[in-house]
Amino acid sequence: MIIKIKLKIFYLLITVIITSTVFFSIKVHYSAPAAAVEYISENDNESTEDNEKEKKFIKWVDFNVCYTALDKALRSDIKSQKNDVKLDWIELLAYLGAKYGGNFSKYKEKHMDELIKKLNNGETIEELTEKMKYFNYYLEAYTAILDGFVGHYEIEVDNEENPEEKVWVRKYGLKAFSPIAKGYDYSHYDDFGNSRDYGYKRVHLGNDLLGQVGTPIIAVESGTVEALGWNKYGGWRIGIRSFDKKRYYYYAHLRKNFPYKKTLKEGDTVFAGDVIGYLGRTGYSTRENTNNLDIPHLHFGMQLIFDESQKESVNEIWIDVYNLVRLLRRNQSSTLKNPETKDYYRIYNIRILDE
Ligand SMILES: [Zn+2]
Repeated sequence: MIIKIKLKIFYLLITVIITSTVFFSIKVHYSAPAAAVEYISENDNESTEDNEKEKKFIKWVDFNVCYTALDKALRSDIKSQKNDVKLDWIELLAYLGAKYGGNFSKYKEKHMDELIKKLNNGETIEELTEKMKYFNYYLEAYTAILDGFVGHYEIEVDNEENPEEKVWVRKYGLKAFSPIAKGYDYSHYDDFGNSRDYGYKRVHLGNDLLGQVGTPIIAVESGTVEALGWNKYGGWRIGIRSFDKKRYYYYAHLRKNFPYKKTLKEGDTVFAGDVIGYLGRTGYSTRENTNNLDIPHLHFGMQLIFDESQKESVNEIWIDVYNLVRLLRRNQSSTLKNPETKDYYRIYNIRILDE
């Protein structure tokens, strides 16, 4: 009898320990924004073989910059290009990120207005952020996310004098594209972090864009095709790494039988606005080319990589791209179908210029 009671107490104790461990690990994970600094702490160097240099890199990013702040920062940046004081939208957002501890539910338009006013009056961002402990963290984190989105580029437009012809024009602004081609309907909401059930309990690390099967899927940013093929969760999927290696774009659940642009293969270079594949409902199966999703959609995700060790690990950093997808809606790639190959192609080519 006594042994039985002792056993019961023992089991109870074990349960309490396990529950509290799980609770605390979840808590630590989700309280990240307030404690961003924890994730920039030095890498635990377990190697005792040699005194290799300690690697310092960002370990965690919560990206919750609201749409209105993204929009205003972008417009201010573009508008300022003709002025003496050129505003940098990433710096504006990083300043506010540092001010809010990364929590943009505190965002007020007047905060950005005040900052812009100071910059226009000749104060520099270095002076203004001198005492902000985490400004450099937010600047590095937001730069990793947004660096490929805005800049100088050349793009083809119709020649007004000759409709048969296209001409190149030089522009400054949003040079990343919506993942959905122009003229195709889609719907989405902020579903980042929702729970998913296939395989094991996981959280949703991207944004689902619901649309018609066959909708041309567009490369958001230029880069290198790093992965192309079947994945038991994503189905037919494409992974594209930005040229600076910081962003990995993940496009999943592509169409059964005809998922990708036919000539596309691993190692290829693609340009922002190129057609790369087609929306579908494949995935959630170990068997290739299986349609196992009820609702056709593109799963679009962005992973940040500050150090190559983060690429495929338990420490992967996926960010909430919902507001970025909303922002990119204003830049959609026009496409046409090639009746022979059945592939779609972009109408207006782009050249990204060095800044
Ligand atoms: Zn998804």
